[in-house]
Amino acid sequence: MFKKLVIASGNKGKLREIQTMLSPLNIEVVPQSNFNVPEAEEPYCTFIENALAKARHASLATNLPALADDSGLCLEALHGEPGVQSAYFAGVPSNDANNNAHLVETLIGHENRAAYYYCCLVLVRRHDDPQPLIAEGIWHGSILKEPRGNNGFGYDPLFLDDMTGKASAELSPEIKNKISHRGQALRKMLHLIEHLTY
Ligand code: IMP
Repeated sequence: MFKKLVIASGNKGKLREIQTMLSPLNIEVVPQSNFNVPEAEEPYCTFIENALAKARHASLATNLPALADDSGLCLEALHGEPGVQSAYFAGVPSNDANNNAHLVETLIGHENRAAYYYCCLVLVRRHDDPQPLIAEGIWHGSILKEPRGNNGFGYDPLFLDDMTGKASAELSPEIKNKISHRGQALRKMLHLIEHLTY
């Protein structure tokens, strides 16, 4: 089994959550920035293709196993958008504050504020791994009219968790990791990693 894993992301919020949740593994988890790996292109219209592209890119550049996360916020009223484009909802260059303001504006006049976060994780042991490990998670909620809370990142101040009645940014990191799309996917990924035979 491998002893070192590169995380194919430059998103600090994602990195924090992934590193925390992988800490029970006896594996050194290192962000791709430690190897000066630039962000990969994400040209595809599906989360899984983008996650695979990012994992392969990091693995090829470092010659190490790599784990990538492609995730996003999907709105019922917008038939799943912004989805894979969540990081760039308000345009390029991306910025959480602009994306959140754009989200609030976009939903003005919409009665249906239901949304979910989706996360697809892909792990490759080498860049041409024929059997990537794949895990996904979904977190249902709705979009608030005003931001709440200071934790998390991205759309967390506007994402109301159905179960707790709290904005994601009001949840502690521990609770968010227990219930979130990424937390669910990471638990499945941990299980897959633990059952690897090589
Ligand atoms: P990616 O790098 O294309 O996967 O971008 C994912 C984008 O989706 C992020 O930049 C955020 O805008 C949003 N996103 C994904 N997961 C979360 C989360 O847990 N909290 C808040 N925003 C998220």
